[in-house]
Amino acid sequence: MTVSQQQAVQLITQVARRLDARGLSPATAGNYSMRLSQGRIAITVSGRHKGRLGPGDVMLVDGNGHALEEQTPSAETGLHTSLYRLYPHVNAVLHVHSVVATALTLALPRVSEIVLSGYEMLKVFPGVTTHTTTVRVPVFDNSQDIETLATQIARQLPQHPHGSAYLLRGHGAYAWGRDMDEAERVVEALEHLLQCELEVRRVKAGGNA
Ligand SMILES: [Zn+2]
Repeated sequence: MTVSQQQAVQLITQVARRLDARGLSPATAGNYSMRLSQGRIAITVSGRHKGRLGPGDVMLVDGNGHALEEQTPSAETGLHTSLYRLYPHVNAVLHVHSVVATALTLALPRVSEIVLSGYEMLKVFPGVTTHTTTVRVPVFDNSQDIETLATQIARQLPQHPHGSAYLLRGHGAYAWGRDMDEAERVVEALEHLLQCELEVRRVKAGGNA
């Protein structure tokens, strides 16, 4: 179910403050959006500090990411709109620049996915009911060419059955959900799981053992 523009602005500014407080998107990093009726998207304005968003810091774009107001939307708007086109059930998209999503993907330059197995927290991902499963979170190389990146991601995402998130190498994470609550749960769970994965790899490598 889509929300009104006023509800979307409120939900986006509230989640932005919580994600900022958790250190997931420092300063102007990250961008957040929600699907509205008639194909419109409410998305954060480019360059605003995400911990201090006000009503004027969320704007409307159309389904192709074109501004419907006299402001400039996030530079990564095309990655949001491609997710809404790909997944009709998705109504909220969150993009964070967390330290672990950024560092882990940069430290593993050749991997195309982070394989998460055996973690209780996997059950936070929609459709996952047991820890005895494997979720493969795709990793894409970062690019400043958002249009090409969005096309590449849209082509590859359907191959990931538990698709609720992906990572951009050295950059951050995208997560989405049926509503803002679900998208926020996925962001939080992904952060926890990546932190765990980093610790597991450190211990296996003998760093803390
Ligand atoms: Zn970003």
